[in-house]
Amino acid sequence: MKGIANNGGLFFPNKINKLENRIITNINDISNEKIAYECLKQFVRPDLPDDILKEIIEGVYKIPISLVTLSNSISVLELFNGPTMAFKDFGAAFMARCMQYFISIEDDKELTILVATSGDTGAAVANAFHKIKGINIIILYPSKKVSFIQEKQISTLNENITAIEYDGTFDDCQSTVKKALLDKDLCKKFNFTTSNSINIGRWLPQIVYYFIGYKLLNKRSNNLAFSVPSGNYGNLFAGMISKRMGLPIDKFISSNNSNNVVDVYMKTKKYIPKASIETISNAMDVGDPSNFIRIQELYKTYSNLKDDMYTCSYSDEETVNTILELYRDYNYLSDPHGAVGFLGAKEFVKSNDNFNCIFLGTAHPSKFIDIVENSINKKIELPSQIKEYLNKTKKSVFVKSYKEFKSFLLD
Ligand SMILES: *Cc1c(COP(=O)(O)O)cnc(C)c1O
Repeated sequence: MKGIANNGGLFFPNKINKLENRIITNINDISNEKIAYECLKQFVRPDLPDDILKEIIEGVYKIPISLVTLSNSISVLELFNGPTMAFKDFGAAFMARCMQYFISIEDDKELTILVATSGDTGAAVANAFHKIKGINIIILYPSKKVSFIQEKQISTLNENITAIEYDGTFDDCQSTVKKALLDKDLCKKFNFTTSNSINIGRWLPQIVYYFIGYKLLNKRSNNLAFSVPSGNYGNLFAGMISKRMGLPIDKFISSNNSNNVVDVYMKTKKYIPKASIETISNAMDVGDPSNFIRIQELYKTYSNLKDDMYTCSYSDEETVNTILELYRDYNYLSDPHGAVGFLGAKEFVKSNDNFNCIFLGTAHPSKFIDIVENSINKKIELPSQIKEYLNKTKKSVFVKSYKEFKSFLLD
């Protein structure tokens, strides 16, 4: 329920237990729900009773996940078949259901969740929390920097969802949220929490993707790498936890767009946070990724991390060319984030031919329809989840500064 610990730090598991071996060796015979249960129970007991955890899992992992083979060594794990068509639907749904449960066992405590988004988080959170009693959602998104469909997903649900269109970047939205969480006047009025990927409710359920990816892989004799298109590093961190739990992953590939602080750090040992740069894979436009500190905590030293993680970054031009390449050569339609993941996978297997590489398909191509259509020079069909939003009317509050944001909330 608390996004950040009282001392301003991030929560971190004090113990990560390995799963029983039989779960990994017999994974083909185990349902996704059972895998999720085995993965998550150690982190949520005793706060979530077993029956509640199972119920939550049923609700979350009903979103279909599939693995599509593109070549001998590269396949894509499609995590984008949820209601807002990004992998974040899993984390948002898990967190929403947990919070709904915790609110239900406490009397009359209203919760207000502040969310900063570069597009996909806001959409997934709005959808997951819509109409949940006792929880209000305030979403800050950077004006004109989210896609048309993302904006519709964030700003058209209303009721307990308030959309704030912020005149600035994602980083501005994020610092506004951080400031509000510590603002005494606001904290008197609101019972705040956050739902960004620093919240453990968001990344815990992502551990399960990697187990499911492994389950769906039919050739397991080679070494295994996961290429993760990364922004705030919640997803990659979850993968690293899955390895600690016993999943045989030999390498993580951190694939970035031009927002490449982590890539630069691994190549120079210098971590230099930057203002975020706008790209066509906007969910990864993060200049100072919040979860990277968790990765450092997990690995303790630079050289330990270096052994496990390969890093790379790509320009928008390379991304566009790759969307076309995937379409033309592999008959595969990818969104820009997936294309960055594929680029990382391709670069890595080129010099590591004993590897199988799974890259994560994090968003459906139709979420970034303009970019995808321009890249392949062809119209694409919209899925029903997306069509649903197109005719709804945007309703958001335009805000230019922290001061304006604060007075809006106090009013
Ligand atoms: C959020 C997001 C990412 C980045 O995930 P992190 O966990 O923040 O690194 C990548 N692709 C898409 C489509 C996203 O929505």
